[in-house]
Amino acid sequence: MRYQRSSALFAEAKKFIPGGVNSPVRAFKAVGGEPIFIKKASGAYLYDEDGHEYIDYISSWGPLILGHAHEPVLNAVIAKAKEGTSFGIPTQIETQLAQLAVEMVPHIDKIRFVNSGTEACMSAVRLARGYTGKDKIIKFAGCYHGHSDSFLIQAGSGAVTFGSPNSPGVTQGTAKDTLLANYNDLEGVKTLVAANKGQIAAIIIEPVAGNMGCIVPTEPFIKGLRNLCTEEGILLLFDEVMTGFRLAKGGAQEALGIAADIVMFGKVIGGGLPVGAFAASAEIMSHLAPEGPVYQAGTLSGNPLAMSAGLAMLTELNNKPGTFDSLAKKTAFLHQGIADVLTQKGVPHQINRFGSMVSVHFCEAPVIDFASAAKGNNDTFKTYFHGMLDQGIYLPPSAFESYFLNDAISYADLERTVQAVAKVF
Ligand code: PMP
Repeated sequence: MRYQRSSALFAEAKKFIPGGVNSPVRAFKAVGGEPIFIKKASGAYLYDEDGHEYIDYISSWGPLILGHAHEPVLNAVIAKAKEGTSFGIPTQIETQLAQLAVEMVPHIDKIRFVNSGTEACMSAVRLARGYTGKDKIIKFAGCYHGHSDSFLIQAGSGAVTFGSPNSPGVTQGTAKDTLLANYNDLEGVKTLVAANKGQIAAIIIEPVAGNMGCIVPTEPFIKGLRNLCTEEGILLLFDEVMTGFRLAKGGAQEALGIAADIVMFGKVIGGGLPVGAFAASAEIMSHLAPEGPVYQAGTLSGNPLAMSAGLAMLTELNNKPGTFDSLAKKTAFLHQGIADVLTQKGVPHQINRFGSMVSVHFCEAPVIDFASAAKGNNDTFKTYFHGMLDQGIYLPPSAFESYFLNDAISYADLERTVQAVAKVF
């Protein structure tokens, strides 16, 4: 059996960890079968407990943009660890990473570090509410902003309805303040805003969505959101947990040419260690404790190991801006290769891509929002996923996830990947 040891480790894990995993998507629920257990990784490759090698297209879901065990990041963490792992007292490296992030990203003056993307989004919404003095937020169906209560909300029956929670444990009281709109539907957002005049603190969006597969905003949509927010005194929150330091030095704000009011980061900014962050103008950030009244805190926030990994990663990206172009070109090459194979084999598909984010949807119609993404054929996706896995290609185990290329992936790896697709179909 190919995955014998992984299977045994999964059985053991299930005895002590709910579902055997510490984050649900890892359990392969959407694709069936059992997860493989990873022993180690290097560059573009993962190695599982049964001794197989995989080209890694999730890169820890985004952070490892330069590949696994990247030397400058590794060396920085090791050196830092020898000086102590946590103090809960200020350190210079926090300012160094903050300064570099502020230099790389447009429209931000100050940044606060947290420990995950969830925390970043949760805190940004609190800041937006505290700053505007309003309670409601608008989010988009299919956008994920972490697992904090206000974000686990499904669509109600009509556009102008209160959301209802889609996880037990989220109260109706919380759900009522989260309004739901459809991605790329500006008119829908305008209707919601009009129906809740003067009550909306923030519109939160993945500026290029990655959590319903990759979905790119149309220009009128994203520009229209910006204008609407400015006109109505609503803060525009860009969740750049996926796009930040991946689409460009300045993330989606730079890539799309649109300014956000608060920007949230995760993944790349931590270089593979647990870091999130949120950032804005000095004026907005001055409302945050201890400067202002909006409370937010963290024992391990700004942790020296996490800061050193982040600083090494962002320094590399800042000094080698060609990385973004290199990644985008590799992703375009993969896109074209897979599209050619699927077309030749007569498999209905849509491939969405922006920079180094890409996803394959097995459906006929363009994928522009959650409803169109949900029309993908999941049976085909399962066959594709497992067929690729068995050939040593690790893809995201859900049709609703974007691939994250890392720059250690070579053109030979990409060619091998395209050949594997041809074998599956
Ligand atoms: N926002 C986006 C856009 C994300 O993709 C994710 C996680 N994939 C989060 C927020 C939450 O980040 P974390 O898992 O680090 O809490």
